[in-house]
Amino acid sequence: MSLTIFPPRPAPVVPVVGGTGGFPVARIFCVGRNYAGHAAEMGHEVDREAPFYFTKSAHAVLLSGQDMPYPPRTQDLHHEMELVVAIGAEATDISQSDAMGIIAGYACGLDMTRRDLQAAAKDKRRPWDTGKDFDNAAIIAAITPAADMPDLADLPIMLSVNGETRQQAVLADMVWSVAEIIADLSTLYKLMPGDLIMTGTPAGVGPVVRGDLMEGRIGDLAPVIVRVV
Ligand code: MN
Repeated sequence: MSLTIFPPRPAPVVPVVGGTGGFPVARIFCVGRNYAGHAAEMGHEVDREAPFYFTKSAHAVLLSGQDMPYPPRTQDLHHEMELVVAIGAEATDISQSDAMGIIAGYACGLDMTRRDLQAAAKDKRRPWDTGKDFDNAAIIAAITPAADMPDLADLPIMLSVNGETRQQAVLADMVWSVAEIIADLSTLYKLMPGDLIMTGTPAGVGPVVRGDLMEGRIGDLAPVIVRVV
């Protein structure tokens, strides 16, 4: 028996649609600038040479349906609506043609961002962590098993705030496809069951304030619905 000086903090568990068990989260990888429209609104061009990534702690997960307390040290909390890919098998250096086979399922997610802190970090060429990886910054809805999914590219992705549409695109607008992202990430990390990938946001990101209701949808996936309080 091994003793710890306090109980280990349990991994957040994301519900699985129609499932009897949930998905325990290990790591969260996030893709930067994966829609040309969003890259442009942030003052960048898409880099077609390679995708780039940042990460969030598993303990930043907030499940859809819960309230998001407005986070500290920001005046500019932004929504970024994203397709989340849930990894269900190990993979290293996996080919694009095999990449889809390690996916357990898909979910709607929100990459919440303290944009003012991120912008300050960019200005000083510092890491993005405080802008991107903070409490409740990775909002995840229930995961739909991959076997139940239609062709991804055709699916619309949208986000409304208080019923007003803010972001709207189709997954085919992604610069890097899900298969390309998984193949590339697997050259940097040994992907493992429990890993989540947030695949980037379309144009239309913007601020939310206390009282706002965010509602994000991708096709028939379980929607992500969260109020900022
Ligand atoms: Mn994002």
